[in-house]
Amino acid sequence: MKTIGLIGGMSHESTVEYYKIINEEINKRKKGLHSAKMLIESYDFDEIEKLQSKENWEELTKILTESAKKLEAAGADYIAIATNTMHICADEVQKQINIPLIHIAEAAGNYIKKKNFDTVLLMGTKYTMTKPFYKDKLKNEFNINVIIPDDIEQKIINNIIYDELCIGIIKESSRLELLKIINNYKLKGAKAVVLGCTELPNIIKEADIEIINTTKIHSLEIADKILT
Ligand code: GLU
Repeated sequence: MKTIGLIGGMSHESTVEYYKIINEEINKRKKGLHSAKMLIESYDFDEIEKLQSKENWEELTKILTESAKKLEAAGADYIAIATNTMHICADEVQKQINIPLIHIAEAAGNYIKKKNFDTVLLMGTKYTMTKPFYKDKLKNEFNINVIIPDDIEQKIINNIIYDELCIGIIKESSRLELLKIINNYKLKGAKAVVLGCTELPNIIKEADIEIINTTKIHSLEIADKILT
């Protein structure tokens, strides 16, 4: 088995899901007492979020690159960034290391293609919904139409992520608000919803359209890579 170097803590609420899903998948496939070989670099998310809100992507890229190099030097065969948002830095990080980075939007794109969904709603942080790094990848590399929630909905989703989900708060009122947004875009042609934030699957377990759980898809891709 190969070793995954996971860059996490963004937030810890979803890193724990990665840890669980990857280990459970390895055990399911290898049986016995097998579990994943994993190195984790976990941040203080408050420090990361402060840099995000200043849009200091340069500093964030430096931090992630340093971690990726550290994990590579410690023996990782692959790197994965356990959040959608911080894939803003992924291409730069990949350039600075000699091992492959398992990209979350590529894993999601492959999954959506396999499922034959031509149009999806993308939900995530304001960065993931508005910046090109994620939606353009789905559009240009996978030919998927990506619908983005409107400004008011973006604020609602972003606030639920940072004020609640990243610190483990799950409110029924927030779940209903998110489901209302999803249903609105189902009526406008979305065939599935990309939960493009690794904490969103903690609150949305099912909806009226198919859910694309990026935490699970990314974790399963990681498990697959380290086993082959
Ligand atoms: N984990 C979230 C994501 O998948 C949001 C936290 C972050 O900004 O990294 O985008």
